[in-house]
Amino acid sequence: MCRKIKRISIILQGSIIFYFLSHTNTGDNMSNKSIWEDVKIKVKKKNMESEITTDILIIGCGITGLTTAYFLKDIDKKVILIDKGKVGSGITSKTTAKISYLQENIYTTLTNNFNIFTAKNYLDSQLDAINLIKSIIEKNKIECDFKKVDSILFTNEKINIDKLNKEKELLEKWNIPTKDIISNDILKGFSVSGTYTFHPLKYLNGLVKIINKNIDIYENVIATNILKEKDSYKIETNNGVIYAKTVVVACHYPFFIIPTMIPLKTYIQREYVNATKINNKYNYTLINVDNNLLSIRYYKDYIIFGSNKHRLTSKIDYKENYDKSRNDFKNLFHKNIEFTWMNQDIMSNDNLPFIGLVKDNLYISTAYNAWGISNSTIGARLIVDLITNKENKYKELFNPNRINKSLIIDSIIGSLHYMKAYPTALLKKNNPTYVEIEGIKYGIFTDSLGKKHKVSLICPHMKCNLVFNREENTWDCPCHGSRFDIDGNIILGPSVKDIK
Ligand SMILES: Cc1cc2nc3c(=O)[nH]c(=O)nc-3n(C[C@H](O)[C@H](O)[C@H](O)COP(=O)(O)OP(=O)(O)OC[C@H]3O[C@@H](n4cnc5c(N)ncnc54)[C@H](O)[C@@H]3O)c2cc1C
Repeated sequence: MCRKIKRISIILQGSIIFYFLSHTNTGDNMSNKSIWEDVKIKVKKKNMESEITTDILIIGCGITGLTTAYFLKDIDKKVILIDKGKVGSGITSKTTAKISYLQENIYTTLTNNFNIFTAKNYLDSQLDAINLIKSIIEKNKIECDFKKVDSILFTNEKINIDKLNKEKELLEKWNIPTKDIISNDILKGFSVSGTYTFHPLKYLNGLVKIINKNIDIYENVIATNILKEKDSYKIETNNGVIYAKTVVVACHYPFFIIPTMIPLKTYIQREYVNATKINNKYNYTLINVDNNLLSIRYYKDYIIFGSNKHRLTSKIDYKENYDKSRNDFKNLFHKNIEFTWMNQDIMSNDNLPFIGLVKDNLYISTAYNAWGISNSTIGARLIVDLITNKENKYKELFNPNRINKSLIIDSIIGSLHYMKAYPTALLKKNNPTYVEIEGIKYGIFTDSLGKKHKVSLICPHMKCNLVFNREENTWDCPCHGSRFDIDGNIILGPSVKDIK
């Protein structure tokens, strides 16, 4: 066993934090699951009848859907939740679960895209969200390893010092105290306090325990269509129909295009995460403002490291990205990796989420720009306030029907990216192989037993060409993020159909 100690010292306004990364070779026995996924969420089993009528239907049981149900639990209306798979098995199960208002240089970006008032309003929404999460956990004594930490924003590139300083100045202007970080490993950085981390699935498990007392949850029910009928909606699913007066779409990427037009206003960002035990515990998280995003948090004595974010339409050899993220991890921490996974989030073109009323009692909450723990919570509060006719000061900020210059310009840039993704989607590798029969392209993947799995390469959602993900043996849509197994069965939306 080779053992080497690396010492990094950080001087945080006079107090010195030393941390030690002990280099123990444990053998590369990696799990493709996230570090959270061993926690199983307990749901009261409920089979769906062929027809259900309810006042409020929530589609999707990730943090967004469950938090919305939490705020609706005492309302005098029938509420039900459905999920196409298991509760908590979506994007939330693969997050890094920082609960933070320090989100790269978001406040400078929002000041540029909108104005300083919008940026400050967004800061307030994140601070409110953090307080809401804290009060939910404390009131209900949810055991989810909720921990107060400092958050550090840093750069290791001279060119980005100005960017970092601008963000710091804005926060200070709004009376958020910052502390300079002096470290051998960081060119420049500062920290803020009042931020947290938790175990996302333990948190969801806690929410389910509370809401499942009087709200039914149906797993393995996939909503495929929403139709307006007089004063209610008819929701078609794989198991029957649901009639609901009010519908909250909390399924991450909405499966319908009109009226939200989400594909035109957003893009998908993928990021790679690696984790391993370091046998030490630290009280802070880190994130940078550089082109290659580096994000670090600790969970118990594990380090969780995210890197190599990219638009899904670019860098479409996902295995190469995975390999790069693992190499980065090993070069930085000299440790073998225990958990390695990837995750993707919806990024809005103007950097604000889309949360609220779309039309006639139809609500959505999405596009959290990789900050979905806080945004889903403030989003749930906003939607429930709208449903119950209460005032909410973030109604206009997150208005899902807004149109502005950034949304339009970036939607043109986004379309160019999609067009680029089309012709490059077919990677010339030996496995899978590609054939064209009567003008239709197919991909044929040969498994380790020599069995061939043939699928059409057209994504049912918006007809993009699928790309083979050599790391996880899946067919992925580079445009909107749908994912399918080697036989074409849907794993992740927005598509609600399998491929042929
Ligand atoms: C690498 C990475 C790291 C991140 N780290 C952080 C972080 O540190 N802090 C932070 O704040 N945010 C972070 N995020 C963002 C955050 O994790 C997500 O924004 C958030 O978890 C999304 O939650 P959700 O409930 O909207 O989606 P999900 O968790 O995906 O839940 C949606 C649910 O809807 C279900 N569903 C989908 N379609 C249908 C359908 N048609 N019918 C029925 N059910 C359906 C799915 O099965 C799923 O269970 C990160 C994102 C990434 C990619």
